[in-house]
Amino acid sequence: MSAIPTLDLAAAATVCPLCDVTRKPRAFQKLFGVPVCKKCFYKFANRRQLAYIIDLVLLYVLSFAFGAVLGLVFPELFISPPDQFTLLDGFWLVFNWLFVPVVFAMKDGFRGYSPGKWVCGVQVVDQITREPIGFLQSLKRNLILVIPITPLIIAFTLAKGRRWGDKWAHTEVVWKRYRFKAPFDRRGILCMKCGYDLTGNVSGRCPECGTDIPAPPRSAAPLVRPVIAAP
Ligand SMILES: [Zn+2]
Ligand SMILES: [Zn+2]
Repeated sequence: MSAIPTLDLAAAATVCPLCDVTRKPRAFQKLFGVPVCKKCFYKFANRRQLAYIIDLVLLYVLSFAFGAVLGLVFPELFISPPDQFTLLDGFWLVFNWLFVPVVFAMKDGFRGYSPGKWVCGVQVVDQITREPIGFLQSLKRNLILVIPITPLIIAFTLAKGRRWGDKWAHTEVVWKRYRFKAPFDRRGILCMKCGYDLTGNVSGRCPECGTDIPAPPRSAAPLVRPVIAAP
């Protein structure tokens, strides 16, 4: 397993672990604590932002289509007497402020993909196991988006890797194409939980936070099929 590059500002050039291009040290930014070139850094952030916009547009289109169909089939659903809170008003209140936000927050649950993430080639995985997340973890990481203004703050702060909601849900977004490369897969090099440098660690456990470290692959003997003698 190759070591994670560190940013040596005195060095003339550093290789980006994602695109393998050699660039000047000042052309690097840290993603999940690992230096990557600014080009890859912003490309990844832009993919995540675009994925969110696609999901949001899809949500608007779907709710509009749903409302339109409902209005055509049951026109009386949209006519309620003014100055009076009816059962129908209650239904719309719950629908718009509870049902729709919860469904939207579960969007990354299709094996780590929302429609937008699938299009943009990014996926949400569990921070430690690196397995794609399901609906519950998606709900956990996205519920914060329901609060007004937070999507805007997240849009400007997600570039460094983990965003609000990721910490609570123990999730990370990976660039599908580079999912087995650092900084997305840092297993055995840095602690996946706290980022501690595990170089030379033999205990199998992070000395900082106690998280188990996957053992490096043993140089196993080649698989040999048993030879069955012909009768
Ligand atoms: Zn790069
Ligand atoms: Zn740790």
